[in-house]
Amino acid sequence: MATSTVLKKPTAFYEIFERKPDADKINTHYCPGCGHGKLHKLIAEAIEDFGIQDRVIMINPVGCSVFLYYYFDVGHIQVAHGRAPAVATGIKRVHPHSIVISYQGDGDLGAIGGNEILHAANRGEHITVFFVNNAIYGMTGGQMAPTTLPGMKTTTTPRGRDIRNEGYPLRMAELIATLEAPVYVERVALTDAKNMAKARKAVRKALQIQIEGKGFAFVEALSTCPTGWGMNPPEAEKWVNEVMTKYFPLGVFKDISDKVEPVKFDKKVLTPEEIKKAIGVNGDSATYVKNYRKNIIPEKYKNPKIKVAGFGGQGILLLGLVLAQAGMLEEYHVSWLPSYGPEMRGGTANCHVNISETEIASPLVSIPTVLIAMNRPSLEKFQPTVKSGGIIFYDNSLIDIEPSRKDVEIVPVPATKIADDIGSTKVANMVMLGAYIGYTGVLTKDSIFDALDITVKRRELNELNRRAIEEGIKFVL
Ligand code: SF4
Repeated sequence: MATSTVLKKPTAFYEIFERKPDADKINTHYCPGCGHGKLHKLIAEAIEDFGIQDRVIMINPVGCSVFLYYYFDVGHIQVAHGRAPAVATGIKRVHPHSIVISYQGDGDLGAIGGNEILHAANRGEHITVFFVNNAIYGMTGGQMAPTTLPGMKTTTTPRGRDIRNEGYPLRMAELIATLEAPVYVERVALTDAKNMAKARKAVRKALQIQIEGKGFAFVEALSTCPTGWGMNPPEAEKWVNEVMTKYFPLGVFKDISDKVEPVKFDKKVLTPEEIKKAIGVNGDSATYVKNYRKNIIPEKYKNPKIKVAGFGGQGILLLGLVLAQAGMLEEYHVSWLPSYGPEMRGGTANCHVNISETEIASPLVSIPTVLIAMNRPSLEKFQPTVKSGGIIFYDNSLIDIEPSRKDVEIVPVPATKIADDIGSTKVANMVMLGAYIGYTGVLTKDSIFDALDITVKRRELNELNRRAIEEGIKFVL
């Protein structure tokens, strides 16, 4: 009789971990004996068995599991520390047909994201949360976590956690189970075969609840951190079973999955036409869809990566926004990314704008092909970053130095003076915008004017804005 052993990697894992930056594309980045790998495997197997791989979106947290996207061949979003439940909420509400998994450690979920998880649970979001509790901040070097046990030594509690000083460990599963909305809450341990079998069941149940549209499911997994605990893997497993489970008992704390009415989420896929109509750039209601007669753009000015920089209050972000909006009207791919200084007015501000014939991989412009500098600190700071062969526009009525770069085009524009001459220095940004489009031909005046009407709510200001743009164009022609 032929026998076969079915020992294969679940299809929800990448066969080769190409996204890992180091040479080892086979093993995970986790330390030997770490519990994360075990939980990953249970989740990946469940995803494969439920046939939901093309619907899963995993929220990648901050912590040792920050690189979930190295391993799982599903949709991913990387989020800020503790914010996974908020992002999961947004995704699930916009794409209710998706299976949204928030995977978080104890520092992420219990400390900085403690508020987030309680409210997501209390709202009964239709998401599945896997909470890895190893009683320590593993990624950052073993500091005390909200789940660190009393007396446990960590790098920030070298004499052991003192409950009189640091308070008591948070029992997250019990806390969440007290809320009305959660449907299923269980704590498991990623240790021996018996506990792993229970963990496997819990992972599947938590996903099943979401697949059936029943609501919020939460599985807390007690996990080993041999590195943070200074133990070898067998000792770490023993410690979970014998010490951790005393403070964090295993079991089901809430299960009302038999009682709740499932919600049916229809899969709604919008056609490109429906999307355009929904955002008001197509159909009868669209005011601004025109066939803009595009300029013939010299090759060197096409697909600009633009950095606009100056003082807060100079309208730097607006300048970038109008460029991006006009680019969108002319049916380019665009992105706009603002960056603020700590102060609102008088501080520094800059924004990154991409206008491209092809899809944009990243909105970040670290090597601009175009720099628009509206003050001296911005010119000094960003001119070294401009790509060789690029172009620098600078307001030479405010900036009393000349750019030092010899390998880029330099276009001085006395934007503030021109703006002052026509009535207000506040429109210097628009003069500069006019100079940029007039000089490069990247966008038409028509689309820029329409973009202004879309972007500037106080339309009465646009008469002067339009005039400033005209003056900027006139200056460079
Ligand atoms: S530090 Fe701890 S939690 Fe992080 S990978 Fe290593 S063993 Fe796992």
